[in-house]
Amino acid sequence: MMPFEIPGHLEVKNGHLHVGGVDTVRLAAEYGTPLYVTNEGRLRENYRRFAAAFPGVQIFFAAKSNNNIVVQKILAQEGAGADAFSDGEIYLARLAGIPAEKILFTGNSKTDAELRYAVDAGTMVSVDSHDELIALSKIASAAGREVRIGFRVNPDVDAKAHPKLATGLKKSKFGIPREQIVSIYKEARDLPGVKPVGIHCHIGSQILETGPFAEAMGKMMDLVEQICGFIDLEWVDLGGGYGIPYQKGAKTPTPQEWADAILPVFDERCRKLGIRPELHLEPGRYIVADTTVLLMQVNTVKRSGSNFVATDAGFNTLIRPAMYDSYHEAVVANKADAAPADTYTVVGPVCESGDILATDRKLPAVRKGDIVALLDAGAYGFCMSSQYVGRPRCAEVLVHDGQAELIRKRETYDDLLQNQIVPGRLL
Ligand SMILES: *Cc1c(COP(=O)(O)O)cnc(C)c1O
Repeated sequence: MMPFEIPGHLEVKNGHLHVGGVDTVRLAAEYGTPLYVTNEGRLRENYRRFAAAFPGVQIFFAAKSNNNIVVQKILAQEGAGADAFSDGEIYLARLAGIPAEKILFTGNSKTDAELRYAVDAGTMVSVDSHDELIALSKIASAAGREVRIGFRVNPDVDAKAHPKLATGLKKSKFGIPREQIVSIYKEARDLPGVKPVGIHCHIGSQILETGPFAEAMGKMMDLVEQICGFIDLEWVDLGGGYGIPYQKGAKTPTPQEWADAILPVFDERCRKLGIRPELHLEPGRYIVADTTVLLMQVNTVKRSGSNFVATDAGFNTLIRPAMYDSYHEAVVANKADAAPADTYTVVGPVCESGDILATDRKLPAVRKGDIVALLDAGAYGFCMSSQYVGRPRCAEVLVHDGQAELIRKRETYDDLLQNQIVPGRLL
């Protein structure tokens, strides 16, 4: 008996958790732990499933959710564009083979240097403020370029997400209030160096209901109605935020259900207005989260205030539980078909009491040396990891056709020193 039903793209064979046909216990032994293991087949499936529900829609993968160049290359092959939140993300997305025309530079606090980088690269820009509009107009016209822009709208929609993941509330730092939209488009229309062609919003992350998307789409189309008379609108971008069922058995909308909530609103309003802009979406988490497991080795099992399992990965490796109180299923990878025997709290090796990865989980009897897998670690996982407490960042492996390939080396002690400079007088 299994503690819960293993999701379809994972398997248990000979008592071991397998990802993409590869034994995770063998991977832990071969590459060491902690280790992020990403399933290429699942990544492609997720992208195709999402894209199939939204025919004619251009997908801009939210690059911040997984910054591995191999993951981005695979998505580029699948036809994805990128939502890049910084110059570094533009750099990576272009290296991954995503053409600049399919990159939207988002971000609420862009430096002039970043804007110049985007202008030179030829990306589109989602402008988040009046200051940014003026800066971009100057930079682009000085370079003799015309940048295609949209404005990020604050749609004032409650996404019913975790407070740290809600980005479209009236008080949130992102975007331009709806009341200012008409005047800023008019101003932008007459400025050199920028060409307003789109409109953008992003209401939050790990959203579990379709309602907030339908509401945001409606509010965006209200604004489209007000600007389409003087702006030749080429695209409307509804952002990302599509949630996934971290807790197995949780019900979340399917891409088809998201589409059924969003597309009729978009199509109907476009038809009434007699316009035909493209719809853009920016899923991050939905595409990458369940492609990846995080493998960790158990250092200690100890009964004190709780029944603790202490592993070699903590919030330095996966910050989501500490930062967002998020839930990740835990599986004892080398005992994946054993019956639950006890209730455990899985913690990391960081010197903080908030370093908890999974609380009060029913697991088979856990022993030192066991391998614990945390599922759904592909979004906001490695990319949010750090060297806190002097631990080099871990490795990443890609599995494909039953084979494993190293796609990011484990860091070494030297990496802890990288770019640090000791002044000569202290040598
Ligand atoms: C983070 C972000 C996304 C992706 O959000 P997910 O919840 O991962 O889908 C999309 N667009 C923008 C502008 C973002 O900041």
